[in-house]
Amino acid sequence: MQIKAAVLYEANTPLVVEDVELDDPKEGEVLVRLASAGVCHSDYHVMKGEWKPPLPIVLGHEAAGVVEKVGPGVSMSKPGDHVILNFRPNCGWCRYCSVGRPVLCNGAATDRWVMFDGTSRLHKGTQDLYHFARTASFGEYVVVPQSGAVPVRDDMPLDKACLIGCSVMTGVGSVVNTAKVEPGSSVVVIGCGGVGLNVIQGAALAGAGRIIAVDVLENKLAYAREFGATDIIDASHGDTVGRIIDMTDGGVDYAFEAIGNHNTILQAYNSTCLGGTTTVVGMAAEDDELTISSLSLPRTEKVIMGSWYGSARPWVDLPRMVDLYMNGKLEVDALVSRTYPLDEINTAYDALARGEVARSILVYD
Ligand SMILES: [Zn+2]
Ligand SMILES: [Zn+2]
Repeated sequence: MQIKAAVLYEANTPLVVEDVELDDPKEGEVLVRLASAGVCHSDYHVMKGEWKPPLPIVLGHEAAGVVEKVGPGVSMSKPGDHVILNFRPNCGWCRYCSVGRPVLCNGAATDRWVMFDGTSRLHKGTQDLYHFARTASFGEYVVVPQSGAVPVRDDMPLDKACLIGCSVMTGVGSVVNTAKVEPGSSVVVIGCGGVGLNVIQGAALAGAGRIIAVDVLENKLAYAREFGATDIIDASHGDTVGRIIDMTDGGVDYAFEAIGNHNTILQAYNSTCLGGTTTVVGMAAEDDELTISSLSLPRTEKVIMGSWYGSARPWVDLPRMVDLYMNGKLEVDALVSRTYPLDEINTAYDALARGEVARSILVYD
């Protein structure tokens, strides 16, 4: 079928919104008509050439829609199901799936830019297009592996559901699944974009006593308060780490870095108390490297760890996040600063680059 999609042909050039060909779903795959897709920073890394998947590619990995058609052998969803896309579709049987860490699945031994069988369903003329994160949600329809489309309750508004598929899961999951923040503990969150705000509300949900939000932009710090920060630090001036240590009598129990840069990861690490835990949630450029004092590890017993997609078990966690939202315990609506049609996707990324928005979403007709 012909669909409209935004294609990246070359880094640092605008996305081209055009008609492309999408094949029918093959064995174990589903076709989803998208309702909404989030404008996330991860895709921007590719647009800027900081991440280098093969091109041309259809980006986008945060989306929700309705299953339109299923391929042979599909048992996990059926036409008409409302689904949130899971950008780490997993095989179900490898060692990582078996121990309950599907985000780390390596059973599907093909690149993340094609379907499990190694081929693409997207084409422009005779040229194959790649699927970013096996999702490619900057198009009206997607074909994804069935483990990449998680059915959720029908009363979840589909225009908001997309954000649960990346920023909410990544942020809240990093707190409750990865770091396992304890009630009453102190938390600092460095970076208050779409993911950072969800780390903040995850920390509030987990019962953290003090939640310190750090950013350089005033509008983001205002959002941070709305999402549950008890204190804010404008990092555009002064000694951020020193202020955090003063405020918490020696450092926080848990630091979260939601930017993806070695400088801010080091700030997070230096902001923790003895034995404190730093969780790196932000996605850095491929060539960014971190240096920390080797001796500090044994002498402080600090822990530093990564969290990818909030250590999600998507088939359990995405419906859980939906329930939390529907019960009024999770804020999603306030994350949506602006909505755009697919045609205006480049404008949406310009706004992201300028730090104007918590999150923009694309709404499909
Ligand atoms: Zn994302
Ligand atoms: Zn697996």
